[in-house]
Amino acid sequence: MIQLTKETRTYFFSPNNPPAVKVDPGTVVVFETLDALDDQIHSDEDIASKVDLNHVNAITGPVYINGAEPGDTLVAEILDIRPWNWGAALIIPGFGLLQDTLPGPYTKVFQIAQDGSMRFGDKVVLPSKPMIGTIGVAPNEDITTLTSGPYGGNLDTTDICPGSKLFLPIFVKGALFGVGDVHATMGDGEVCGTGVECGADVTIRINLLKDLPISRPRIETSTEIMSVASAEDLITAIKMALEDMVNWLHKEKGLSKEEAYVLASMAGDVRIGQVVDPAVTVRVVIPKAIFTA
Ligand code: CA
Ligand code: CA
Repeated sequence: MIQLTKETRTYFFSPNNPPAVKVDPGTVVVFETLDALDDQIHSDEDIASKVDLNHVNAITGPVYINGAEPGDTLVAEILDIRPWNWGAALIIPGFGLLQDTLPGPYTKVFQIAQDGSMRFGDKVVLPSKPMIGTIGVAPNEDITTLTSGPYGGNLDTTDICPGSKLFLPIFVKGALFGVGDVHATMGDGEVCGTGVECGADVTIRINLLKDLPISRPRIETSTEIMSVASAEDLITAIKMALEDMVNWLHKEKGLSKEEAYVLASMAGDVRIGQVVDPAVTVRVVIPKAIFTA
């Protein structure tokens, strides 16, 4: 097992980032991640304008995977996420869906209990639902960790959580994989712009598939398969994820494209990752239980 600390961090997915470590496929790596606000928010009085916006959404890494080549697929098997014992949710002026009517600023710092739950005032308790907001490999150019694309990035997708496998297309030698922006909990949509932003220890087994080229991220959970896409608008993103799912079912389940399209409509769900980042993220979800072979 390899451990990376939060000192090994970057704010770009980039082919030019020097590797933090080189590992063989199959290695388990524990990433100590910083919260998305770079550990700059500690009390309800700390508002977003205090944050140095050049240092947000850090990812820990990158990890160079020996033998990884462009065209291969990286498999990130998420084994565990252990958040710090505190986190924060914010309304950041100029960010979030209701920025015109509820511009903020607003900050709420949460204590995260042993069982992962969070008390919100005296009427609400939030259950533990840790997930990874930002995860990806290096694209062919420098891209800020604030956005997302075929390489992954700021996907803010609640199914990127313990028990899931995330599949990512590889663009550069070694893949240069990084992880950050953990949320102790987040709802689909991430409508105000944050979940409970926290640092964490994230344990991931990293593997390689040499024979499964994919064009965009995929997720497999114990019960579902998902195609993930990001674009400037929701409809474009949904079309991209849907086309990926149709092709996936066509190639791997032997359905015609028409059958796959109809199946996605009958049994699939379109779920929203987030609608607040520079590119919005969606996924098309198919339950595994419907397949008899
Ligand atoms: Ca995020
Ligand atoms: Ca976040």
